[in-house]
Amino acid sequence: MRISRRQFSQLSAMAVAAELAPPMTAQLASRKIGYAVIGLGRIADHFLRGVQASGNSKITALVSGHPDKAAGIAAQYGVPKANIYNYENMDSFRDNPAIDAVYVALPNSMHAEYTIRSAKAGKHVLCEKPMCVSVLEAEAMIAACKAANVKLMIAYRCHFEPTNLAAVKLIRDGALGQVQQIQSAFGFNCGAQEWRLQKPLAGGGPLMDVGIYCLNATRYLTGEEPAAFSAYTHSNPNDPRFQTVEENLNWITRFPSGILATCETSYGANMDGYFRVYGSKGWLEVDTAFAYEGLSLKADCYDASGKHIQLDQPNPEKDPIHFTREADHFSDCILNNRTPKTPGEEGLRDMQCIREIYRSAGIAMA
Ligand code: NDP
Repeated sequence: MRISRRQFSQLSAMAVAAELAPPMTAQLASRKIGYAVIGLGRIADHFLRGVQASGNSKITALVSGHPDKAAGIAAQYGVPKANIYNYENMDSFRDNPAIDAVYVALPNSMHAEYTIRSAKAGKHVLCEKPMCVSVLEAEAMIAACKAANVKLMIAYRCHFEPTNLAAVKLIRDGALGQVQQIQSAFGFNCGAQEWRLQKPLAGGGPLMDVGIYCLNATRYLTGEEPAAFSAYTHSNPNDPRFQTVEENLNWITRFPSGILATCETSYGANMDGYFRVYGSKGWLEVDTAFAYEGLSLKADCYDASGKHIQLDQPNPEKDPIHFTREADHFSDCILNNRTPKTPGEEGLRDMQCIREIYRSAGIAMA
């Protein structure tokens, strides 16, 4: 059976509906959750556009070290000038009822401080991945949000992306049989001026930044927590970019059921993100699995009635739909007192895994 574009759309729609049933009701929200965006860089731009399409979220404040840039973005998104803060005075937003939540889009090592300060100001926190740069920081962030009685979600957008969800659904439905092996990679040739190459800001190299997508994918694809890791790293000693962070890192994860996952990440080479999952009855692969758009799902497997499924379809959805779903979901959790799909504990588990991978590779972590 060859699945048509319409059937693929149905599969991904079913996967999204099954995973994200509560946010579907977000369209009926009686009020919109107001977000302060902290750090106006590249990912913040995607989030800002995603929120514009949301039924239950809006941008009400900005926090930036660059007032001119902030003023321009404020004008674009209808944020009053009075709601532009900087990193020094942002704690005063505790008195601003227009701000319900923050979106932390800063360099990795700043996530913990700005999450904890926001929680202490009584604001819910949606924090970018990686959650922070150490297990201790992750635990402190969770504790601070619990103490302040605010919600914490890590912005793992692939958990809201239809092609990833369709792949998970095929696996959970048993279409691949017993999963045996997973392969995944994600990397890019990192520009020398990037903060990503400075360990004090980044906390680590490509594993923290893009390898984490492969790590997190192996966890959501299997639905299991890793039992063991074995990792290798190599960095060109003559390349000035890799004085404090690793260049290349590969690792194998063994899951409790016996599934083996092989992952690769790099700051020295462009590696379009992908994953391939091999099971006893078939396989699937998602190409550019972690991109904002242009993902495609291929599969050769069998449904529950034994029908052959052959799938080779790009997902026609365009950016920023899954950013919108991510914001919808967190706002819905705030409005209806639900637990986010990717809470702080999900970020903590990845930080624990990263600690083990670095330990195996002989790399020191904060
Ligand atoms: P950018 O460098 O584009 O933006 C970071 C912003 O943080 C800057 O624009 C700046 O905002 C602010 N900032 C404050 N202090 C510093 C500093 N010392 N150095 C640099 N920037 C500073 O980074 P990205 O947007 O690419 O990444 C931000 C976070 O988002 C990272 O944690 C990253 O891992 C994550 N990310 C997530 C993605 C996803 O798909 N979920 C994709 C890309 C990144 P201002 O000028 O307003 O002060």
